[in-house]
Amino acid sequence: MFDKAYRILAIDDAKDGLLLLAFDLQEAGCDVVSANSGESALRLLEQNQVDLIILDMHMPGLSGLATLAALKSNSKLQDIPVIMLSASDLEDEIVAALELGADDYVVKPYIRKVLLARMHTSLRLREKTKALAYLAKTDFLTGINNRSCFYQLTNSAMSQASRNDHNIVIAMFDIDLFKRVNDNYGHDVGDQILKAFAQCMSQCFRDYDIIGRLGGEEFAVCLPDTNIEQAMLACERFRCNIEQLSLSSAVDNQNQENSNLVKITVSGGVVSSSRKSLDIDQLLKQADVALYYAKSTGRNKMVNVNDLPNNEEVQDPAKLNQTNTSIVNTSAASIPEETLNEVDNSIDLALIDDFSLEGMEVTVGLNNVLGDKALYFEILQMFYQDHRNDGDKLKQAISEQDYDTAKHVSHTLKGVSCSVGAMTLFDLTKKLDDAINAKETDLQALLTNVDAQLKKVMGSIQMAVVKEF
Ligand code: GH3
Ligand code: MG
Ligand code: MG
Repeated sequence: MFDKAYRILAIDDAKDGLLLLAFDLQEAGCDVVSANSGESALRLLEQNQVDLIILDMHMPGLSGLATLAALKSNSKLQDIPVIMLSASDLEDEIVAALELGADDYVVKPYIRKVLLARMHTSLRLREKTKALAYLAKTDFLTGINNRSCFYQLTNSAMSQASRNDHNIVIAMFDIDLFKRVNDNYGHDVGDQILKAFAQCMSQCFRDYDIIGRLGGEEFAVCLPDTNIEQAMLACERFRCNIEQLSLSSAVDNQNQENSNLVKITVSGGVVSSSRKSLDIDQLLKQADVALYYAKSTGRNKMVNVNDLPNNEEVQDPAKLNQTNTSIVNTSAASIPEETLNEVDNSIDLALIDDFSLEGMEVTVGLNNVLGDKALYFEILQMFYQDHRNDGDKLKQAISEQDYDTAKHVSHTLKGVSCSVGAMTLFDLTKKLDDAINAKETDLQALLTNVDAQLKKVMGSIQMAVVKEF
């Protein structure tokens, strides 16, 4: 009858009823545990796991309904399916049991075949629900937590840390030059690398650290009860392990002879919640700033947000308004191309109050780096270098119907626009990104809007953010 030996807990105060039930269930291949009261059943469940419960309605002491209520209010037990078994067929009792969360209600004397069929349905339904819950939480490729599950688990770890006044660290990782892996060895090898990367993460971090794939080749880890120094050591160890990782470029065994070893490196940004009481989005944004810095200064490194240039002001907000951090000359000439190739950390920028950039909400961008203007300008310069040609890239990809590239460029541009405070560009790129994801084919109008806004933003950055020598 059943495809495996399910463990069933039978609860009934009548010994003969219990014996008969146990007999029928064992005959059907089940493993049966019996309890003659609600109280003893609840005690038994503290130590034993069962797949389904058959519960008598009328018992002295804890009644069937009271036992059911206790089961459903216990987070560890509430998912076990319960079938009520009762000599009473009073409608109100049946309704009360179902409302309390019983899966089914069978009237005694039961017909063996019917009871078993109903058990079968409940067990199958529970397994399907479990499988769906697993899918909703899991990244289909790597098997680790997906973005939404990572957020959920990290959010609750952050609340717990803040209640207990414990420190918590978040690190964001991005595989270096991953596009080249796909380009050189194909998407399948890329996928294998992503799986191996996730596996290495699970092995490197502690069991109670929360790991997740945020999307694409971006991953994150949340380390509860950890200070930033310990976290940097753990991330550095992880970086070394990734450096050691090598995977054959042959996806199937037949091509082993011609295969190469594929190696990758990873960059990361690491941030601690002790910096400020920030929420998960703010922490991830901060980690992203450090990650961006790691990328722009050579890759294959872990950067602590506290070690970013000019970060003293970030740590001590009181100093923010009296520093000599930033200068903006909104009327200055364009930045010469060559000065944009490398970020110059020695820029001496004086503070001005009325800094504005056309098409941008500067305060949003500044807030993302906790008001550090010098850092913000460095990021604006990187943004200019890396994304000023995105309009052309998008046009070309869309005209060639290369939706993977279009998707990637729009997705990245959307994220970075939001980080630097180019909010109109963010909105327009989001629309384009959504349309590409929805596989819409007429993207021209959205593309024109993104391109025009991108030109506006890049023009104003080019005009305004000028290095002073
Ligand atoms: P950087 O060091 O600056 O991060 O360079 P990069 O090449 O890693 O970054 P970029 O963002 O340009 O490219 C990321 C690539 O990741 C492009 C995209 O095709 C690939 N990618 C995203 N998701 C998947 C996936 O599920 N499987 C595979 N094989 N590739 C993916
Ligand atoms: Mg990336
Ligand atoms: Mg990358």
